Amino acid sequence: MSHIFPRHTAMRPPRAKKGDGCYIVDETGKRYFDAGGAAIDCLGHSDEKVTKAIKDQLDKIAFAHTGFFTSDSAEALADRLAEFAPGDLDRVYLVSGGSEATEAAIKLARQYHLERGEGKRARIIARLQSYHGNTLGALSAGGNMWRREPFGPLLVEMSHIDPCYAYRGQRDGESLEDYGLRVANALEAEILKQGPDTVAAFIAEPVVGATMGAVTAVPGYFKRIREICDKYGVLLILDEVMCGMGRTGYLYACEADGIAPDILCIAKGLGAGYQPIGAMLCTKQIYETIEEGTGFFQHGHSYIGHPTAAAAGGAVLSRLVDDGLLERCREMGGKLETALQERFGQNPHVGDLRGRGLFRGIELVADRETKEPFDPSLKINAAIKKAAFARGLMCYPFGGTIDGKRGDHILVAPPFIIEDSHVDEIVDTLDGAIKDALGAQGIA
Ligand code: PMP
Repeated sequence: MSHIFPRHTAMRPPRAKKGDGCYIVDETGKRYFDAGGAAIDCLGHSDEKVTKAIKDQLDKIAFAHTGFFTSDSAEALADRLAEFAPGDLDRVYLVSGGSEATEAAIKLARQYHLERGEGKRARIIARLQSYHGNTLGALSAGGNMWRREPFGPLLVEMSHIDPCYAYRGQRDGESLEDYGLRVANALEAEILKQGPDTVAAFIAEPVVGATMGAVTAVPGYFKRIREICDKYGVLLILDEVMCGMGRTGYLYACEADGIAPDILCIAKGLGAGYQPIGAMLCTKQIYETIEEGTGFFQHGHSYIGHPTAAAAGGAVLSRLVDDGLLERCREMGGKLETALQERFGQNPHVGDLRGRGLFRGIELVADRETKEPFDPSLKINAAIKKAAFARGLMCYPFGGTIDGKRGDHILVAPPFIIEDSHVDEIVDTLDGAIKDALGAQGIA
């Protein structure tokens, strides 16, 4: 028996022995197509350039603590991330993952207001059905009730407004634009309710990943959000931990919405699974406020600015922007979208197909006409994950949770290096897995 503490204690997952392009091979030789465990492995598992960059860095120096040093790889990565970043994002704080990035963002927003003499601004407003990480601050911001509930007493009080989720939120006769304005205006109402001088920041994912399944905002929504934040001096934090780093076909997902935040978080695709790394980017103005104030961001972890992780991040970024993988993500995303539409567009249990680039979501429903979700106790999404894995496909399921406001969904986020044959493999395997899962419940 192993002493490993598995994610699910009842689970005895196979051992991953080898990476082979888009596949992971286990100890029995079985191959699993990586269509996005959690939208991390954007380059597959055998990228020679990234592996070489890590090895080269290890030959020089593996680690140097940021209390004393910076490093070539960290500076180079920060410079390139800033070079491509939208708006005034200018400074890059390198961390080890997504929760660390959002946690740092929340604390930076708070400290920024404190340094400006607006110490009452402590509240963060977020959206329901969102996920911003599992550490207590990030979990407080997240609006996923199932994840929050057990830890309730420990969480910081924050406000949650409805997400932009046209498939379920748009009213009969309402245009998409009007719907977007209506849900964005809920932010203004919440700021006014709480008192503008108490609100530090609003945080949202431009394309909602884990908790909703690749839900994009309708046109105009984020522009209105930006206006509201500016009007009340509330910082806009965008969490691109899952949807960033090219996943949607844009290096930064918010480019598609035509806005730039004050603080932006990335992770997952930045290390592409080769190293644990994330980053928080902030505007020059925020940085200068700290610089001219206490001169010290009151935060930090042992491994921030890790040279080896930064070397991996630099190589991943170079693959995306120098080797044409962003364009490839867009092209293959279009092919995957078409294939999913063709296969599932008329399926009586598929309510919505959505997403951008190679970030695609499938929402499953009991009744396509009424959009009624499956009974959560059936755990349809988990059954699909299990059936897909048995058939050799990794995908990311979620849903059927206690708020009852959505159906089960499957998130598909394969590497950007996929070929046409992989698109067929994903769609065929998913089709089989959905039939397995529904068939087991006697649903045709
Ligand atoms: N934010 C978002 C949008 C995420 O999807 C995730 C991870 N699923 C996180 C934050 C947390 O990232 P990590 O798991 O690397 O801590």
